[in-house]
Amino acid sequence: MRVTNKFNLPETIVRFSQNSHYDSGKSNITCTQLIDSPRIVQLRKKHKEELEQDISDMLWMIMGTAMHGIFESVKVEGTITEERLFTQLHGWDISGAIDSQRMEPDGIVIGDYKFTSVWAVMNDKPDWEYQLNIYAWLVEVVKKIPVKSLHIYAMCRDWQRRDVGKEGYPTAPLVTVDVPLWPLAQRQAYVEARLKAHADADTDATLGTALAKCSPDDQWRRKETFAVMRNKNMSRAWRVFDSHDLALKFAAESKDVTVITRPAEPIRCKNNFCRVSQFCTQYKEENELL
Ligand code: SF4
Repeated sequence: MRVTNKFNLPETIVRFSQNSHYDSGKSNITCTQLIDSPRIVQLRKKHKEELEQDISDMLWMIMGTAMHGIFESVKVEGTITEERLFTQLHGWDISGAIDSQRMEPDGIVIGDYKFTSVWAVMNDKPDWEYQLNIYAWLVEVVKKIPVKSLHIYAMCRDWQRRDVGKEGYPTAPLVTVDVPLWPLAQRQAYVEARLKAHADADTDATLGTALAKCSPDDQWRRKETFAVMRNKNMSRAWRVFDSHDLALKFAAESKDVTVITRPAEPIRCKNNFCRVSQFCTQYKEENELL
């Protein structure tokens, strides 16, 4: 990937961003890639020389790297920080870097530091559950020690003291989020399924056949919603409903309003969160329909 510096930022930031590239060691696939869309992983591989990112778009990545560096430098007895583990499954070398493993008499407590948003802490984040359960699988397979619990150590970059007290709002900018630990058999089945999806995509890429499409979850597709608009102010929704019937019922009881259907938009594809969208036929086909 080419890193550009469109805003002429200082050399210190340029060097840091160049040196902070992720090193997955000698593995074919990482735990993070396993949970991601096989289509994205293949398109990234194929177009890695053409991909471009400006340093100004790498702020959160730089902050995340800096945060990991700080925690890695702190030594706590009984806690292993930033350990990359490797294993093999069906001929694949799988690796995962685990931020924190606290050894307790009855098992290992796994933790992952996230520089994240308040929204992420307040809402369900299935990716956190997948990622930490793959780590738990890796730790148990490699170390033969049971995993006791999983946690996200969330640093909320947009936390505001004035919002404390609102329903579900984190009480502090640094909070621990407990993540459900699956039974080992469920973790194993999940890893097997993800590996198969990636192996199939690898075969498709080698043969030049069409890659499987990204799922709505891969695309961070929002649900279809129904907005009731006041006719005198069509730029902003008055009320938004998940159900068309409820929106129509509300509109029937109101005056001078229009109900508009907001399609289920693929947020990741449309808002430049997916760096391979320019090479993606699925994106092009679906975009014509939107
Ligand atoms: S643009 Fe959308 S559909 Fe295409 S690879 Fe990215 S997330 Fe998947």
